[in-house]
Amino acid sequence: MKVVVAVKRVIDYNVKVRVKSDNSGVETANVKMSMNPFDEIAVEEGVRMREAGVARELIAVSMGPQQSKETIRTALAMGSDRGIHVLHPDALEPLMVAKLMAAIIRKEAPDIVILGKQAIDDDSSQTGQMLAALLGWAQGTFASKLDFEGEFVAVTREIDGGLETIKLKLPAIITTDLRLNTPRYASLPNIMKAKKKPIEETSPGDLGVDVTPRLITVKVVEPAKRQAGVKVENVEELVEKLRNEAKVIS
Ligand code: AMP
Repeated sequence: MKVVVAVKRVIDYNVKVRVKSDNSGVETANVKMSMNPFDEIAVEEGVRMREAGVARELIAVSMGPQQSKETIRTALAMGSDRGIHVLHPDALEPLMVAKLMAAIIRKEAPDIVILGKQAIDDDSSQTGQMLAALLGWAQGTFASKLDFEGEFVAVTREIDGGLETIKLKLPAIITTDLRLNTPRYASLPNIMKAKKKPIEETSPGDLGVDVTPRLITVKVVEPAKRQAGVKVENVEELVEKLRNEAKVIS
């Protein structure tokens, strides 16, 4: 089986994100960037499929500025075989990413494509679904378990009331949920080996995709500051405040 994983370079999840002073977006200059955590899970799943002999090739794809190659290198150090970088200096909307992915997939003809369930910077949770629609492929979103059976994959999904298992005919699109696996750290020898693995560079123009933005960000603001809490001495005081100040009991 041939597997493609999508890896996005995002602000590291440990960084306290700051809004730009003109409210046009968030500061990314001199900020630590990393692979989107859900995409690490996608890569890990692909590497496990490779190790189990289910997959014969694992390709990591990223779209963005030159530095996105570092994100691909991380995927290569984790165990991907090769990378594809769609060079584009600006942010790409989910529909554009889906169209670029679709163009790559038509060329590479993988059996399965694994994406994160959402990118932690835009929280869109749209790309995998749009990609499935563009290709006319089945989709298993928010996957917490994958079981391959011949030309099918059974996908366990975490839903509100419990676990849902669906069976998809390959080729299919999968998006990862947190519990699918725990991604490995790349070892130093594998980081060294990854430097020699190939990364093909392409562009939206080469892929014939118009990536002109369709959305305008009106403004980005910090979340409202929470008011400081008060400590009460005893239950009577708590009840008194709930009754007379918060007016949540009578
Ligand atoms: P989103 O729909 O923006 O929440 O992103 C969902 C998933 O799509 C991410 O977890 C990635 O797997 C993939 N994706 C989104 N943007 C990119 C990008 N620029 N490069 C590679 N993969 C991406």
